[in-house]
Amino acid sequence: MAEKEKVEGFLEARRTDIQSRLSDYPKHKSYIIDFADLEEYDSEIAEELLRSPDDVLPVFDGVLSEMHIPTVAENPLFHVRINNIPKDPGYTLLVRDITSDFIGRMIGAEGVVNKISDVLPKVKVGHFVCLKCGEVNREPQEAHHKHSLTSPMRCHACQGREFKFVPEESDWIDIQRIEIQEPLEMLKGGDQARRIEIWLEDDMVDRVTAGDKITLTGTVRLSPPKSRGPVYQRFIDANYIESVEAEFEDIEITPDEEKKIKKLAKDPKIYDKITRSIAPSIYGYNEVKSAIALQLFGGRHGKILPDGTHVRSDIHLLLIGDPGVAKSRVLQYVDQIAPKSIYVSGKGTTGAGLTASAERDELNEGAWTLKAGALVLAGGGIACIDEFDKIDKDDRSAMHEAMEQQTISVAKAGIVAKFKANTSVLAASNPKFSRFDAYKPIAEQFDIPPTLLSRFDLIFPIRDERDATRDQRVAEHILKMHRSEKELAEIAPEIEADIFRKYIAYARRTCFPVLTKEASDKIRDYYTELRGRSKDSVAATPRQLEALVRLSEASAKTRLSDVVTLNDVQAAVDLTEFVLREIAYDAATGTFDIDKVITSHPKAKRDRIHLIEGIIKELISSRGEDGASLQEVIEKAKEHNIDRMDAEGIIQELKQNGTIYEPRHGKFFFAQE
Ligand code: ADP
Ligand code: MG
Repeated sequence: MAEKEKVEGFLEARRTDIQSRLSDYPKHKSYIIDFADLEEYDSEIAEELLRSPDDVLPVFDGVLSEMHIPTVAENPLFHVRINNIPKDPGYTLLVRDITSDFIGRMIGAEGVVNKISDVLPKVKVGHFVCLKCGEVNREPQEAHHKHSLTSPMRCHACQGREFKFVPEESDWIDIQRIEIQEPLEMLKGGDQARRIEIWLEDDMVDRVTAGDKITLTGTVRLSPPKSRGPVYQRFIDANYIESVEAEFEDIEITPDEEKKIKKLAKDPKIYDKITRSIAPSIYGYNEVKSAIALQLFGGRHGKILPDGTHVRSDIHLLLIGDPGVAKSRVLQYVDQIAPKSIYVSGKGTTGAGLTASAERDELNEGAWTLKAGALVLAGGGIACIDEFDKIDKDDRSAMHEAMEQQTISVAKAGIVAKFKANTSVLAASNPKFSRFDAYKPIAEQFDIPPTLLSRFDLIFPIRDERDATRDQRVAEHILKMHRSEKELAEIAPEIEADIFRKYIAYARRTCFPVLTKEASDKIRDYYTELRGRSKDSVAATPRQLEALVRLSEASAKTRLSDVVTLNDVQAAVDLTEFVLREIAYDAATGTFDIDKVITSHPKAKRDRIHLIEGIIKELISSRGEDGASLQEVIEKAKEHNIDRMDAEGIIQELKQNGTIYEPRHGKFFFAQE
């Protein structure tokens, strides 16, 4: 048979290679063939392999076992695996392109692992004992997409039809099911990522984890539904799988585009141009946009300290403020233009949706399956998390780890797994009590614990201020979008979206700027001064120092510079100062109180709580059975210059922490009384 001769010729020429690869069994159980080599040797056999892998792969396995290679002869479990299928269309496919036309064919595919199951044992060769004559019949279980065990048709000794299956005497093989989805950077314009299941066997199990980007070679198959319906599921029976590293490698940049990018980088106004290309349809918010620009580029990637710890280069931003100030719009916009991103809402997003989870999977015989969420899937990109305050309690603790260590650990039911989550977070949050109040600390108005707040490099409070001229401008700006094409063009981004995305990808791939001596001195001086400003140094922590470094590096990256200059540091300082002015400004005293940022109860607030408590106490003692009425408490509070909103907020809080209770609507009593 010509086919077999060709395979013999191909493998024989690689005998020494095969021998050395397979000498350390069971570390290596596979000989991996580069598809390009096979194609070069004989394009017909290469094509034949892709067309009918179920016929051709066994020929490779058969020839290998007949080659008298020592370890192969002793151990039955050897595989020939195929790597490096061409990236061309029709060879390597996107999940969405794997149609029924490809059933039974070998293809290449790539994606991000979003689900992995436990490794389970599967019968490879069943050991069956004939119930009539006791003869052993061994039955290979090739079709592993079947739901049932295949027993022999008839006993080869007595033609009997009934058998007993003996698990201990059967041969077993490890299998694992994973699911991949299309990489986010390949999907733009709101496309939903498609997913497909991948089945792995033997030495291919446990090679990848959730969040890994992988390439694979495999045969497209169908698995029948459990309950004999007509709808089958596609899956890939993987022959070879491998994880790939490179960041944004899917974004192709032609030499022409590279020229364009380099030219853009030379523009002295590039940072402004970039800023103006972010959400141009949204009026104002220039500082927010500048910060987002820096976030898109990120700090210097891949810094590792001498002790082996990894320094976060991703910048996290938080927008907090009144409803209807376009926070969600900003997030959606960034999701549109970022080279790699995901948009999720904290509300309704379950654990797996955001970080990761372990769950029992019906499809996988009830075994545990690990599922990666947005932060894992958007690795290397930006996760836009709206309604950040609404995220689940369990997720919050995972967020702490994800945002600083950039890993997500899952420990549940004996499974301990760690995922990579090198993702920048752009979060938005609405205040607890409908409107944002300049008089109160942030930690109190937003359901975000201070420890999590401190993970953000910059926090932007956005107020819906009533200012007639600004209102008019916003209105004019919004209305422009609803008028003529010509006016629409006025709010088009300065840098066109496609090249903008490539510019960022290029910078992230190639630019690793380092601090000059002056730049680092300036950061040190500013940081020391910042710490001096705070009364008990709660707000300015070394974390903020790192934030300054990241922001400065990102600024250098916006013009593809190899060095971080004084100007870059200035840009970082300007943004930090802006944020501090916005946040730390204490409207009650007209001064800046840096402690206001993080601490949950500053002194002024505690005083007010005590005052309200005092008022309630007094009212109860004078009213007795009737308790204190809400109306009276508010009126009395007003006499002490505490407005209605404040008083209601404090009463709400006292109720929540159990100091007071409300047996009848609007009547309060002290809990201990
Ligand atoms: P939020 O998430 O802050 O509650 P949204 O993003 O839902 O607010 O915005 C509400 C609407 O108001 C959007 O349609 C947005 O376009 C509009 N809007 C608010 N502020 C601006 C602005 N500064 N420029 C343009 N549109 C704005
Ligand atoms: Mg919103």
